[in-house]
Order: sequence, then structure tokens, then C-alpha cells
Amino acid sequence: MTQDIKVVSPGNLAEALQILENDPGVTPIAGGTELVGAVRSGKRRPGVFLDLDHLGLDRISLRENEVELGAMMTMSQVIACEQLKGAPWSLLPRALSQIASWQIRNVATIGGSLAGGIPGLDGTSALLALNAGVKLQSTRGACVIPLSDFFLGPMRTRCGPGELITALVLPKPPAGGQWYTCFRKIGVRKAYAMPIVNMASVLSVQDGVVCSWRLAVGGAAKISLLLNRTAALAVGKPLDAVNLEELENCLQQEIAPSDSLHGSAAYKRILCRNLLREIWEELLAEEARVE
Ligand SMILES: Cc1cc2nc3c(=O)[nH]c(=O)nc-3n(C[C@H](O)[C@H](O)[C@H](O)COP(=O)(O)OP(=O)(O)OC[C@H]3O[C@@H](n4cnc5c(N)ncnc54)[C@H](O)[C@@H]3O)c2cc1C
Repeated sequence: MTQDIKVVSPGNLAEALQILENDPGVTPIAGGTELVGAVRSGKRRPGVFLDLDHLGLDRISLRENEVELGAMMTMSQVIACEQLKGAPWSLLPRALSQIASWQIRNVATIGGSLAGGIPGLDGTSALLALNAGVKLQSTRGACVIPLSDFFLGPMRTRCGPGELITALVLPKPPAGGQWYTCFRKIGVRKAYAMPIVNMASVLSVQDGVVCSWRLAVGGAAKISLLLNRTAALAVGKPLDAVNLEELENCLQQEIAPSDSLHGSAAYKRILCRNLLREIWEELLAEEARVE
């Protein structure tokens, strides 16, 4: 395999984008945890790899209204970020801590986890629940699109030829209110295990009433989903007036799991219902502690 691979290592972002512009067939490589496996198994053809290591994309920048996470930050770097310790952002490091093993987390990047378009990954659900934006850059400029619009289908994203994901943008949450965040995952094993399904929840409560709720699920459809209709059933209601059965019924209408090696569609439906119940029970228990 190695004889057929050439790696180019530009020293800055402008140079990298120019290389991609000149030859869109060049493949960006970040941590390589997915890409190298795909080449080894023959799913991807070796060719010219564009090494993203020296572009300065491994930093976090805190701004007035947002935090920007460089696409080349490894999962371990994000987990260790002091700036992400408070709610609701702390959901992201919590979700990433449940990915694979520390050996993988030390090299896999947050940009790489989205760019591959693998459906249902753990970080993706947490980022959807946190209303993340994806920063795409090419020689023509940069734009930020909502992560909820980024996936077009399994392994298909809006990162087009000549473009790189350069950062993920998390908007600052509005002040006031109480944040409740939760991430739950079910996999076949604890370590090295891709999720069968996962669920991430970011809910805010003010004066006992649900102000906002972003609920995301992975593994329950062709792409990771925001369960907007389910979440809307709780918004504007006191927590204890929310009808869990109604939420569960709506969830079943919003998801569309399929049979896979990980489990049947029917099994995944049960798992999703159980995760929603667990998240709701945890939320009520936390609310009771705060009062
Ligand atoms: C053993 C193992 C266990 C795993 N377990 C889990 C798990 O429990 N939960 C989970 O969610 N995931 C799991 N994963 C998947 C893991 O999250 C992904 O492999 C990883 O996030 C990919 O990131 P990377 O930096 O290694 O990307 P790479 O492999 O380098 O790249 C992946 C794809 O993205 C493209 N790319 C990379 N960076 C960019 C960029 N900045 N801009 C544009 N394109 C880019 C590449 O060209 C390639 O197509 C596991 C993987 C392995 C190997």
C-alpha cells in the first residue's frame, strides 16, 4: 500500500487550499483513523494525501459570542479544554470521552469525524445538540453552515471539492436559566466500539419552564438527526407537565432506523426509547437536586 501513497505537507492553510484547488483528487488526511483503515481494506484507493498537520488548525479561540475549535484538534485535546468545562459545552468533552480508546482519541480529530460523513458518530450528536456550525474554507473564501445542514446522506457531506473543514463553531448559550445536558451511548463494547445508537440532549429551564431543547440522535436514521418535533413538545411547559409517553411516540415517528450488522431496526427503536427515558429521568433527578 505504502508505495502507492504520496503525502504532501503544506506549511500553511493558503498553500493547502491552493493544492486542493489545483487537484481536487488530492485527499486530506487528519488523524488517519478512518482513512488509513479504508485504504487498507480496499474501500478507498491510495493516491496523494494532503497532510493537515502544519496548518495551525489545532487551536481553540474564544470570542465574544462563540468558541471556535480548530478542525485538527484531537478528541483528547478537546476533552482537556478548560474553556469547555462549563454547561452546556461540557457535553462535548463528555461525549468524546466515550469514543473508542485513548489511543484513538489521541489522533482522531473533530474535523475528521465529520468530514468522513460516517453516520451516527458520538461527537456528531453532541455537536448537533450544541447547535454547532461547520466552517468550510476554499481559495474562494470561508463560510459557516449549521451542522444540521452538513450531512447529505451516509458518507456524503457539504464539504465539496477544493474545500476543507477548518473549524467547528459553538455559539455561546444565552445567559440565565439552568442548563441540563446529557449524553448516552449504546455500543457492543465499552472500548473500541462504534455506537449502535447514541443520544445527546441540551435543555434549558427558566423558572421551572423548559425554554429550549435540542435533542440529537445517532444511529437511528441514515444521518444523525435533530429530533425537533419531539423537543418542541416540551418547550414552554413546566418540566413536570411534560408527558414522557407523548415524547416517546413522537420520537418513534421522527426516527427511521434500518437493519444493520449492529442490530435490527426494531431493536434500535427500543434502544432509542430507552435512551430518551434515561435522559428524561436523569434530567428530573438533577432538577430535583437543584431545587
Ligand atoms: C478502532 C476505532 C474505534 C472507533 N470508535 C468510535 C466510537 O466509539 N465512536 C465514534 O463516534 N467514532 C469511533 N470511531 C471513528 C472515529 O471517530 C473516526 O475514525 C475519526 O473521528 C476520524 O477522524 P480522523 O481525524 O482520524 O480522520 P481521517 O481518517 O484522517 O479522515 C476521515 C475523512 O475525512 C477527511 N478529512 C479529514 N479531515 C478533514 C478536514 N479538516 N477537511 C476536509 N476533509 C477532511 C479525510 O479525507 C477522510 O475522508 C472509531 C474509529 C476506530 C478506528
